[in-house]
Amino acid sequence: MDIVLTGTGSPLPDANRAGPSTLVKAGDTHILIDAGRGTVMRMAGGGSLPVFLSAVLITHLHSDHVCALNDVITTHWVMSQGNATLNVYGPPGTAQFVERQLGALEADIGYRIAHHDMLVNEPQVEVTELEAGDAFDINDVHISTAATDHAPVRPTLGYRLEHEGAVAAIAGDTVPCVGVDQLAAGADAYVQTVIRSDLVRLSPNEMFQDILDYHSDVEQAAQTAARAGAKRLVLTHMVPAPTPEQYPEWVELAAAHFDGEVIIGDDLTTVTL
Ligand SMILES: [Zn+2]
Ligand SMILES: [Zn+2]
Repeated sequence: MDIVLTGTGSPLPDANRAGPSTLVKAGDTHILIDAGRGTVMRMAGGGSLPVFLSAVLITHLHSDHVCALNDVITTHWVMSQGNATLNVYGPPGTAQFVERQLGALEADIGYRIAHHDMLVNEPQVEVTELEAGDAFDINDVHISTAATDHAPVRPTLGYRLEHEGAVAAIAGDTVPCVGVDQLAAGADAYVQTVIRSDLVRLSPNEMFQDILDYHSDVEQAAQTAARAGAKRLVLTHMVPAPTPEQYPEWVELAAAHFDGEVIIGDDLTTVTL
């Protein structure tokens, strides 16, 4: 199983970091978790394309995690010539979000169908809304879900993907909670979106400080990794985004709480399990 960080950014625009998304390649089964800004571009860089996706899993409907879903839908539609179905899974609200995306794309869908004789179908998107605790299989990948805690954003889900003995936990935005402990239990890689609470606190911007109460900071992610017995902690969606010179400092903060490998994500960082 390969975990490809297709976006390690956050809502803050960054020339080198696409918005949050993670691609899991389990054999021929490609599964995308979230679709932040620039996801499709980074998928191409990571050896995939929307048309190769067996599923898209959405953690929550914050715009930074779903703003490129329309690009995933459109690119999948055009490259499959309207003949394939894109399967999207997410918390309640996902179906309405997708429906509205398709509504926003209505003009484009009409133009392309009018222009290409062989394109007769509109985008085929099948949405499955999940409750925390749901489990299901996509090809030979077993997926289980748990509630995360990103209040007041509700509901939010994290995902655990298992394939041929390898386990990846993709938690999304959350503070430490029982659900994340379950997802990350014994995982080969636990991928966590994080902030540096010590640095965020230094900001004079009150609205920016609001993010402190609904994200894991680096230390908390490391504590979760240790508690859950994860083998690797992969940090993504870092706020504020570190420069490579600052990576050792981030690793040190995590290493104070967690003995396993700590990986600071760059776009297209690939973790092979
Ligand atoms: Zn969020
Ligand atoms: Zn986010």
